[in-house]
Amino acid sequence: MDKTKRSRAEAWFRYADDLDIGPYYLDRAPQTSGQPQAAESFAGAEPSSAAPPTAAATKATPAPAKPSAPSGFAAAAAAAAPALVQRAAGPSLFESADRIEGDTLDRIRTDITPTCTRCKLHKARTQIVFGVGNPKAQLVFVGEGPGRDEDEQGEPFVGRAGKLLTQMIEAMNLKREDVYICNVVKCRPPENRLPEKDEIATCSPFLYRQLGVINPKVICCLGACSAQTLLDTAQGISRFRGEWFDYRGAKLIATYHPAYLLRNPAAKGEVWKDLQKVMAVLGLQPRRR
Ligand code: URA
Repeated sequence: MDKTKRSRAEAWFRYADDLDIGPYYLDRAPQTSGQPQAAESFAGAEPSSAAPPTAAATKATPAPAKPSAPSGFAAAAAAAAPALVQRAAGPSLFESADRIEGDTLDRIRTDITPTCTRCKLHKARTQIVFGVGNPKAQLVFVGEGPGRDEDEQGEPFVGRAGKLLTQMIEAMNLKREDVYICNVVKCRPPENRLPEKDEIATCSPFLYRQLGVINPKVICCLGACSAQTLLDTAQGISRFRGEWFDYRGAKLIATYHPAYLLRNPAAKGEVWKDLQKVMAVLGLQPRRR
């Protein structure tokens, strides 16, 4: 490594150290194989295909979320956060038309059914990957759809990207069990391709119901698919990553997908900034090593 590259790398590690994100940086090996091109373009700067607007997503409310006043570290980070951007009009998570009286996560899971054939993803899947975590979580992470490991184990984010997500959660001073983790589509797209418009349109109402039941303070979209679905936009994620939006009364922020970070570790700093904004809203301090 030449001198300039070396000093740049050292500065970068110092920066990571200053941010106290050592563990988050452990997995530094870029992914070299096994991921199809489609997935590569996905969580990155400008995805080639955009998720469709969905009827339910257009109900996102413009009412700004009102986080309680943070202090200390949280206040500093909150001050750095951009103002909440308002998107589409609609009722809050408590009022939305697709909110079912007395709905529960168990009921949603039962409604999907283990033998669901509503979309073509059922043909290649092993099982439904519903979601996991605290049903009363203040923070929900929403990914795109299960991959091979998730399809095998029936739990979201358990493969390589999932391990990185777990590190991210732990760097926020939380445990996986403290948050809720789910996806836009509940069945694995073959060859880990992007979920298609019709698949998203068919499956996303179950995601809206999950969010309605959990009623989190913050929704963190991992990658373009979930962000575009929940915000009902076709814009590339790099246009709005790290900004706050209102989703039916919850605060929503989009950041890069952990799979993207495996291929582009340099983007971890941007993601950490986004997670710090989430921590500020939730009043969390970074983990001390
Ligand atoms: N990627 C996702 O978007 N979700 C998972 O569950 C795993 C990988």
